[in-house]
Amino acid sequence: MDTRAARAALEVRLASLEADLAELTAVPRDPMAAVGFGKRIGDGTTEAVDRLTKVGAAEKLDAMRTDVVRALEKIEEGTYGLCDRCGKLIPEERLDARPWSVLCVDCASARSLRERH
Ligand SMILES: [Zn+2]
Repeated sequence: MDTRAARAALEVRLASLEADLAELTAVPRDPMAAVGFGKRIGDGTTEAVDRLTKVGAAEKLDAMRTDVVRALEKIEEGTYGLCDRCGKLIPEERLDARPWSVLCVDCASARSLRERH
């Protein structure tokens, strides 16, 4: 398999994930606003929800970044395109759609079920 295109796609992906993560986890410019100090309860709630949404988004991005980093390692190891869990071949359509796939469809769905508790 030609992994050069995959590696390029993964590197672009990694850079954009890191930029998004840096933005999401950046310290707010106004610390008082972040705490909601001296504000009406309604405002604080909106901020708390916004904060949770950001944490959720950051967690998702971080999980994807882990896969992207792992996929790059797999290219180095020469195991790119093989499932990390069962060793089966990951279908090429799947790799085309998600070049950072490190698990086959079965193992990935087993993993996401576990993560959802
Ligand atoms: Zn598998």
